[in-house]
Amino acid sequence: MSAQSEKKEIEFPELPLVTEDFLSKAQAAAGCQMAEYAPGEREALLAGIKKLLKEQDAVLVAHYYTSDDLQQLAEESGGYVADSLEMARFGHDHPASTLIVAGVRFMGETAKILNPEKRVLMPDTEATCSLDLECPVDLFTAFCDGHPEYTSVVYANTSAAVKARADWVVTSGIALPIIKHLAERGEKVLWAPDRHLGSYVQRETGVDMLIWPGSCVIHEQFKADGIRNLKEKYPQAQVLVHPESPKEVVELADVVGSTTGLIKASLNPDVHAFIVATEPGIFYKMKQASPAKLFLEAPSGGLGGTCESCLRCPWMAMNGLRNLAEVLKTGANEITIEEDIRARALVPIQRMLDFARRHQIIVKEKGNA
Ligand code: SF4
Repeated sequence: MSAQSEKKEIEFPELPLVTEDFLSKAQAAAGCQMAEYAPGEREALLAGIKKLLKEQDAVLVAHYYTSDDLQQLAEESGGYVADSLEMARFGHDHPASTLIVAGVRFMGETAKILNPEKRVLMPDTEATCSLDLECPVDLFTAFCDGHPEYTSVVYANTSAAVKARADWVVTSGIALPIIKHLAERGEKVLWAPDRHLGSYVQRETGVDMLIWPGSCVIHEQFKADGIRNLKEKYPQAQVLVHPESPKEVVELADVVGSTTGLIKASLNPDVHAFIVATEPGIFYKMKQASPAKLFLEAPSGGLGGTCESCLRCPWMAMNGLRNLAEVLKTGANEITIEEDIRARALVPIQRMLDFARRHQIIVKEKGNA
């Protein structure tokens, strides 16, 4: 049977999971900022922000998990939509003197670490990440001090201070080759903070690892039973899973990958339906690239009216058009990092970038949340 005839046989019923109304209620219940605009307000904000970006010599870099509005605005205004590391690298290469980072706090910090000469602003500096919150620098430092025989490897979703204490920083896509490299050198690994990504890397490499018990509040919610049920209903669908998800969910995956890796997988011309286990902001890029395909949200453990059920990262949702316009007008929410910490945090990031270059690994395509 040809791929063309297979395509015609797939029936695409209505999405069974998250309606706009449900999403709106769930996020409102969670205290997230759902953007509701008066007539004409959204258009006025978009036009005003584009004008301010030019006046302020600024460029907008947005993460895949931000709203469709912000991703579209970044693209239309000459900015960029990417994973955290590539956001920082784009900002480095772009001539603008101000970077507006729409994402969460560690992304603004990474941008500042790599671009100390630039002004970095964020719509809301309170936007954080459960992985970052669950790995405070004092506890991490004490843990490292208690296990000096281990090489410390931290995920990008950590504060600048934690990065400054680490031997290596990794993204989800480059974690496996770096850990294998460390194993070949006979090193043992202290991994922080995501336990699911850590145990995935450990299963794949067999390396002796101590794993910090942090997790992403979003990815931890995906449930294997729900995915199995959905797969029965849509047997042709490929299951795409971010490795921050629990082991039972990762085991059901056709593709395990970072945000950029999953977007790339969705371009497979032979597959026309996907069950996607990651933050639903990623659908903007997936649907933009493949508008005729079916993208289904992997079911979560939430029962309704919570972050767990809508699966929108509550901190990513703190980025909006109104607060973006405000920081452009006022210059508020600038990211600053003590030079000593910034310089030390740059070392393990640079080590990863050098490793990627030496091994010809395209970190750009293997980023992370
Ligand atoms: S989706 Fe998870 S990993 Fe990403 S910023 Fe939100 S809490 Fe952190």
